[in-house]
Amino acid sequence: MSVFENAKQNLEKASKYMNLSDGEKELLLNHKIIHKARLNVNGKGYDAWRIIHNDALGPGKGGIRFHPNVSEDEVKSLSFWMSLKNSLAGIPYGGAKGGVKVNPKDLSKEEIEEVSRAYVRAFHRYIGQDKDIPAPDVYTNPQVMAWMLDEYERIKGRHEPGMITGKPVELGGCEIRGYATSKGGKIILNFFLDKIDEKREGTRVVIQGFGNAGMNIAKMLFEDGYKIIAVSDSKGGIMNLDGLDIKEVIKIKEEKKSVTQYSKGKRVTNKELLELDTDVLVLAALENQITKENADNIKAKYILELANGPITYEADEILNNKNIKVIPDILANSGGVIVSYCEWVQNRTGQIFSKEYMENILKEKLERSFNKTYNLYKERNVSLRMAAYMIAMERILKAEKSRGNLD
Ligand code: GLU
Repeated sequence: MSVFENAKQNLEKASKYMNLSDGEKELLLNHKIIHKARLNVNGKGYDAWRIIHNDALGPGKGGIRFHPNVSEDEVKSLSFWMSLKNSLAGIPYGGAKGGVKVNPKDLSKEEIEEVSRAYVRAFHRYIGQDKDIPAPDVYTNPQVMAWMLDEYERIKGRHEPGMITGKPVELGGCEIRGYATSKGGKIILNFFLDKIDEKREGTRVVIQGFGNAGMNIAKMLFEDGYKIIAVSDSKGGIMNLDGLDIKEVIKIKEEKKSVTQYSKGKRVTNKELLELDTDVLVLAALENQITKENADNIKAKYILELANGPITYEADEILNNKNIKVIPDILANSGGVIVSYCEWVQNRTGQIFSKEYMENILKEKLERSFNKTYNLYKERNVSLRMAAYMIAMERILKAEKSRGNLD
């Protein structure tokens, strides 16, 4: 099933709980603008998209992904999730996402720069600090944002750092953006474990994915006393039931490019890793990792979705029936975009916030959205995902109503 078909099923389910009219549902199911382009770089062509799902709450906001599996269907799903994420976080943004179907691992640094600049040349009319604001996502980073900003400012002939977030600090980015998604995930996990009176010390954690999000949360949870028993990257995983020394694993990853080169652990496949007996499973890779094929074998008690859409609709139902608690993506990984919001406010006002100030905003916003979600989850006896969807959808619909777009 397509990723967006999956996303749609959750929306349909939440619509029923909310008694939405067909008009309201239609509005949330449809994307406002789909832009597609073919980027030509050094004689090669790459398909690229920028999609705004909804902009009732403010300009579009969401990252740009460079990945060989990027498709229109995927960008549609990612932009839809951004609408919900931004709404739940209470920040003044609609939802958008972009992507290029390319494997940056096959390209030189110069070619990645060319793809980044070509992307902006294709879409510059549709992005901007009050229109739609990109950021990093899978396989894009502050350097890519810097090239994109530079290309944009050259075309427009003026500075506009607020047109993109996740920039290097010297171009108006902020220090904490790099690890904000992971920090947010850790804060949310801690709130959740506190609520259910579960301790952190020695709690077993398995992490799928060792990119920016997976690696940083591994480091943070390790420092907080969690016991990380397995991690993986695209080459496979490693496991040690006595706990991995994450500092060493990070060193190996940086030197040898894969966690599988770590010698004090047993090699596991991605499939085995997901099915390990653990307290917490952190999904920090890509979509559709837990499906109806493996959901029955999952032994984790709690799942933190640091990636977007890692569990299919059918798998989610199976996990719910097994009483496995899933902390949904639109809450668990919202730390990144919340700090992007701080960066954008700084750029637009010319202010410079301290790290402590931004970390406080991050914590406050997460606390507010976590408590709202948790309370509704208890009150309505629904999954955490449904509670989060209902809160997010309601705020978007309210904005659409105020604009006169709905009766
Ligand atoms: N790509 C990130 C996400 O999926 C961050 C988006 C942003 O900062 O705009 O939430």
